[in-house]
Amino acid sequence: MDTIRTAKAMADWSAAHQREGITIGLVPTMGALHAGHRALIRAARLSCDAVVVSLFVNPTQFGPKEDFSRYPRQLKADAALCKKECVDVLFAPSTDEIYPDGFQTTVTVPGLARRWEGERRPGHFAGVATVVTKLLAIVRPTAAFFGQKDFQQSALVTRLVADLNLGARVIVYPTVREADGLALSSRNVYLTKDQRAAAPVLFQALKAGRTAIRDGIKAGTKIQQAMRDVMKQERLATIDYLAVCDPETLEPLKQVRDRAVLLGAIRIGKIRLIDNLLVKV
Ligand code: AMP
Repeated sequence: MDTIRTAKAMADWSAAHQREGITIGLVPTMGALHAGHRALIRAARLSCDAVVVSLFVNPTQFGPKEDFSRYPRQLKADAALCKKECVDVLFAPSTDEIYPDGFQTTVTVPGLARRWEGERRPGHFAGVATVVTKLLAIVRPTAAFFGQKDFQQSALVTRLVADLNLGARVIVYPTVREADGLALSSRNVYLTKDQRAAAPVLFQALKAGRTAIRDGIKAGTKIQQAMRDVMKQERLATIDYLAVCDPETLEPLKQVRDRAVLLGAIRIGKIRLIDNLLVKV
């Protein structure tokens, strides 16, 4: 496995491989890799000739009061996981490499960024959209792999790539979970034992929403209530939002017809967890 640190070397590597007709799968990450990232790497491995994993803790997607400086960093372990998964390139640029002096361009996807995570984390999706655009421009992958875990992010990236004709196929991979339903996340390491025991309540609430829909309940408010009722049973957790939305626009649905995405964010102590479920009627 090659570890590449500069945009120029990464672009040269991609160009050389593309000249040979080699297809490239890109898995963008912020490191602290877990089985969710591994599943994306394996999906890339299955559908592309070569796999590039990018590892960049992107400062522009963190708010001033968020955990950028505390975000788990473990390059050695991440490199070992990538090596084991036969990743071809670990692209790990420095912050200055991605945002050199004079950098001033921002990419925004205002409609899809307006609600939910975008509303609670001002500037977050502009940071995501800008760094993803840069990574796609540098690596020029055939396909880029994102997790459904971050549903709003994957919807926004899909839109962005189509709108700007960036050329890569965007593949959204299903959420990988612990046995008790908790979605894997690099931030789960912050949970204390009690908090960890409480954390699956979010997925349980989303499942209650799904059950309500499958039982024929159509009103968004009633489905929301079914999710809230489950949350009430866990005193360590508070709701940030629980929403019943159109999976394409992410606007709230008054009535569910054929498809809905249930989006949830909760707080347990200082830790914020997000999750979602896509429901087809
Ligand atoms: P991150 O390192 O948190 O920025 O995540 C990198 C990629 O992995 C994103 O596309 C995430 O959506 C995806 N991802 C994170 N957690 C999971 C999970 N539990 N299952 C599937 N994909 C995930």
